Amino acid sequence: MKMTVAQFYRTSADSGTRETADLERKEARTRHSLHPRAYARFRFVYPVLSRRARGVSLGVNLSPDARCNFSCRYCQVDRRGPRSPSRVDVGAIMAEASAILDDWAEGTLTAKAGWGPLPLSLLRLNDLALSGDGEPTQSPLFAQVLEALRELLDNRLLESVKLIIITNGSGLSRPSVGRALGRLRPGHDEIWVKLDWGTQKAFRETTGTRRSLTAHLSRVVSASRILPVTIQTCLFGTEAGGPSEAEIKAYVRSLRFLRNRKADIARVQIYTISRPPADPSLLPLSSGRLDDIARIVRNETDFRVETFGA
Ligand code: SF4
Repeated sequence: MKMTVAQFYRTSADSGTRETADLERKEARTRHSLHPRAYARFRFVYPVLSRRARGVSLGVNLSPDARCNFSCRYCQVDRRGPRSPSRVDVGAIMAEASAILDDWAEGTLTAKAGWGPLPLSLLRLNDLALSGDGEPTQSPLFAQVLEALRELLDNRLLESVKLIIITNGSGLSRPSVGRALGRLRPGHDEIWVKLDWGTQKAFRETTGTRRSLTAHLSRVVSASRILPVTIQTCLFGTEAGGPSEAEIKAYVRSLRFLRNRKADIARVQIYTISRPPADPSLLPLSSGRLDDIARIVRNETDFRVETFGA
């Protein structure tokens, strides 16, 4: 029988530690509030409690019009309702990021974000993430914003706070993007790249792009020469089932392609849908299924693998 995302939430077991469970509950509540990214009427920067970052992440949205060059079936960007096609304003981004960093330093972030009381350990500020409602490397201001954010963290002596680029990988071969990524701090900042399964058919059907999967993998290899790459894969099923054994085998082959070319892969993060996806027929996978797939990937690649259930 078809299970909705909401039903899945109610029935899925909470198997994490107490702190992880707290974070998951808070994150889920934040995800389901009416304006999960609303913070003091800011337009570009928003704080989130992130399981994948294991703390607070400040998202920087370079796509306020929510346009993206991919149209992933699992995309969880809320594109309902009108969007104002506001232009990216680097000055506003820096002002908003500075104000949120001030709030975090003064201990007022939690209340302003509407998160309610949180254990101190969950308030660790992990990163500023260039992600948002579209593909950040498509923005002509990508390099300028990356540079400005790096300077902001340096000027505030926030040495432990990372800069993370979350990308679908399509812009990684562009020289201007490569030069910008060269500004990231080795051994500290991170690049997270999506990898949507292991065949050209799955890649095309999942992301809606006509790009070549092999070229995508080659871009990941090149990016990993700049900084270790975290691979992000969203897995899901439909009423017909899936992903099939053959699809998982193909996915593993893609990861082995990276390993055989000596790509520097920091970790593989496998997750499932946790908010209403663009394609409403998609269903989340159970934590057990994700763990089974993670075990296969670990055995076949030696990569470090993390899973994130719904
Ligand atoms: S690349 Fe990201 S923002 Fe763009 S459609 Fe896919 S999931 Fe959504």
